[in-house]
Amino acid sequence: MEPGEYLPDCTEGITRVEDLPPPAVRRRSRNYRRRRCPLCGQPGYRYGWGQRRLDHVGDVAWNLPQVVRVRYSKHRCASCRHCFTPAMSDLAPPGSHYTGRVLSLAVRLVVEDGLPYRAASWHLWRDHRVFVPYATIQNWVEAARAEDDHLDWALSDFSGYLAVDELYDGPFCVLSAVDPRRQRRLLYEVLDHDPTQGDVLFFLARLNEAIGAARVPAVDAALPPMAPTS
Ligand SMILES: [Zn+2]
Repeated sequence: MEPGEYLPDCTEGITRVEDLPPPAVRRRSRNYRRRRCPLCGQPGYRYGWGQRRLDHVGDVAWNLPQVVRVRYSKHRCASCRHCFTPAMSDLAPPGSHYTGRVLSLAVRLVVEDGLPYRAASWHLWRDHRVFVPYATIQNWVEAARAEDDHLDWALSDFSGYLAVDELYDGPFCVLSAVDPRRQRRLLYEVLDHDPTQGDVLFFLARLNEAIGAARVPAVDAALPPMAPTS
């Protein structure tokens, strides 16, 4: 091969997902005999197993897609009977079929590099060997934007009062910040485990950053017009 010679991607022209090269499989374990119940803190013993498949950024050295298979234990609390699974949000957001790494890469391609959704989808495949339908990328980007727009709106007349709370919903914990005077939700974060000190600090830092960013223009806009210098 000559330097600078153009070679098309070896999968160029493939239109069916089934025809793409098969993925390399990495295994991860979240299998424990006992975990602390996120609701009441009592021990929850394992009563079964589950498996989750996550599409990950590909193995570029071998030019292969990569799949992470997570085998996890299912637990039931001996005290309150709550059923839960061990934390996995470091690998992927709750309910996602892709790792967090794939999500952030896709959103950056659109938001930072300005790629259209279809081009971002092709880029992810060609350079990172992960297949994400462009409509899925569109959903991710719009969800990220909706969150920003909502926050801009909610902070547009922020009362200065803030209530931060944690709510439990099945296996998930929702950290939530509201403006109680205006009855508006400002920010929330879904965790698939009970919140650690790090989770709470990270959440408060995000909130602080958002309020800081929103408050500066609001304060400027509220200033009276400058008196003409005499
Ligand atoms: Zn419990």
